[in-house]
Amino acid sequence: MAAAAPSSVKIARRGLMLVISSPSGAGKSTIARTLMDRDQQIGLSVSVTTRQRRQSEIEGVHYHFVSQREFERLRDSDSLLEWAQVHGNYYGTPREAVEIAMGEGRDMLFDIDWQGAQQLQEKMSADVVSIFILPPTMAELQSRLHRRAEDTEEVIQTRLNNSRAEIAHWREYDYVIVNDDLNSAFDAVQSIVKAERLRRDRRHGLFDFVEGLIA
Ligand code: ADP
Ligand code: 5GP
Repeated sequence: MAAAAPSSVKIARRGLMLVISSPSGAGKSTIARTLMDRDQQIGLSVSVTTRQRRQSEIEGVHYHFVSQREFERLRDSDSLLEWAQVHGNYYGTPREAVEIAMGEGRDMLFDIDWQGAQQLQEKMSADVVSIFILPPTMAELQSRLHRRAEDTEEVIQTRLNNSRAEIAHWREYDYVIVNDDLNSAFDAVQSIVKAERLRRDRRHGLFDFVEGLIA
């Protein structure tokens, strides 16, 4: 008789809030998208923004594009978990989707700036794991912004001008990755997620598991 397949031991754990920040063009959205494609356990927090939609972007997938008035309504009704003004536009994280995911122990990915990362860190430090992505050189950052070819020259210049001030916050993050080779940077992110999921503090199901084990 064939041996029974070993039962996979499932241990309940808290969801992870994976925060990824970088100066514009360093590659955080590319890394975030790859992670979403390859890891079914993690969901993306879709932000609201007053920024104009880029040609490649889809409403409700990349962002919820809203008017300034609608943004203020959401902010003033406490519907945003965090919000910030970045490169002259407003961005915010809808609270409800995060609370539902966290309540169900699901992981969530946040592509947000350092101001948002600070706010989540203050409110939910036990669940937040933060990663800062650096470009290999400033020249490469500039050429990536041009290669992306989705913003006007004026917007690119604003973003480049803001990049040094954004990079100055690198020390506030748990992990820092230099995105030179995309595959290596992605591997690093995957390793972080894998290890953070195994942290004892997040795995509240361990109490029951160990009790059963030694009973
Ligand atoms: P961000 O979200 O940080 O603003 P993006 O993910 O949009 O940046 O990346 C900016 C551009 O750089 C995109 O065209 C992307 O394909 C490219 N890119 C990202 N990572 C790398 C890399 N390691 N090497 C070369 N190009 C990259
Ligand atoms: P982009 O316009 O390139 O999509 O994003 C510009 C910046 O805003 C990026 O640094 C991005 O991470 C950040 N951002 C996007 N959504 C949010 C959000 O909900 N909150 C905050 N604080 N920043 C955000």
